[in-house]
Amino acid sequence: LNCSLSQELKGNIRVFCRVRPLLPDDGPGTEPVVSYPTSTELLGRGIDLVQSGQKLPFTFDKVFSHEASQQDVFVEISQLVQSALDGYKVCIFAYGQTGSGKTFTMMGKPEAPEHKGLIPRSLEQVFQTSQALRSQGWKYKMQASMLEIYNESIRDLLSTRSSSENLGAGKQYTIRHDSDGNTSVSDLTIVDVCSMKEVSALLYQAAQSRSVGRTEMNEQSSRSHFVFTLRIYGVNESTEQQVQGVLNLIDLAGSERLSRSGATGDRLRETQAINKSLSSLSDVIFALAKKDDHVPFRNSKLTYLLQPCLGGDSKTLMFVNISPDPLSVGESLCSLRFAARVN
Ligand code: ADP
Ligand code: MG
Repeated sequence: LNCSLSQELKGNIRVFCRVRPLLPDDGPGTEPVVSYPTSTELLGRGIDLVQSGQKLPFTFDKVFSHEASQQDVFVEISQLVQSALDGYKVCIFAYGQTGSGKTFTMMGKPEAPEHKGLIPRSLEQVFQTSQALRSQGWKYKMQASMLEIYNESIRDLLSTRSSSENLGAGKQYTIRHDSDGNTSVSDLTIVDVCSMKEVSALLYQAAQSRSVGRTEMNEQSSRSHFVFTLRIYGVNESTEQQVQGVLNLIDLAGSERLSRSGATGDRLRETQAINKSLSSLSDVIFALAKKDDHVPFRNSKLTYLLQPCLGGDSKTLMFVNISPDPLSVGESLCSLRFAARVN
């Protein structure tokens, strides 16, 4: 599309599109509203949104059809995960309306091995590779944190305090960046992790904390951004080389527009906060891709938190998740346009 940027301008930002399968709960007339210009239905670069019999074409770095498995998707990001071990700052986002497959893509269904998402698969790779690199003298220390951003407030998902205490009660969760490009969030729980088992327990704890918070605060699901951060410190004992990488895996709040959710009061404020942070994210990625002098990182908590991991020589990947449900065609078009803008 005319607002997409040429390949050489794009730098380290990639956009992958993933379409989920039609589900039994989807609208009537079980015809998916997407088609693919190539015959290979698994993985291509083009996608057509079919609206009122008209095909609207979009192109991304990769397009995964509904037939792509979790492993098919992971294969395409494993290089990026490796970059974090090599000392890069990496962000992988999932963007899309509620029900489009963001959480399935990021977390998946950990109880079913073939449905495990990118977060558990990436962490398995990080632990396996770091073990394997021991024979070359590398020793790694890893630290995990998990937070959510709801209504422009940070909530620590690994805190042992109750969620209401966690949100209010003087906990400021102030974001600071030092001159070395390291980010700290005051009061945020950071846990040393050495194995998949340990991280799995933390992911479970975070999921519990999210759902408790949701009930206490009377929130809807999918109204907050979930940010998983793994900091990786590597030292080579023979060469004394040091690396510091960061892997951020982010399940964004649902991108659906105001009219559809029919929001008033608290819900309206919620939606406005989400719209603000999603449009700030798009503005930041767009400005970075254009190599603008001014990048508006400070316009939202999410972009400010991730600032050091979005600019410079960091690497960013955005998944745009698409529902093939005919009832969602308007939202799907918005998501594709959003992604085309940052692509
Ligand atoms: P979101 O997080 O964007 O709100 P979910 O990830 O919860 O959406 O997905 C909505 C529903 O679709 C869930 O029941 C999920 O299991 C299912 N789903 C999403 N993507 C896929 C996929 N690629 N294959 C099979 N089921 C999927
Ligand atoms: Mg979700």
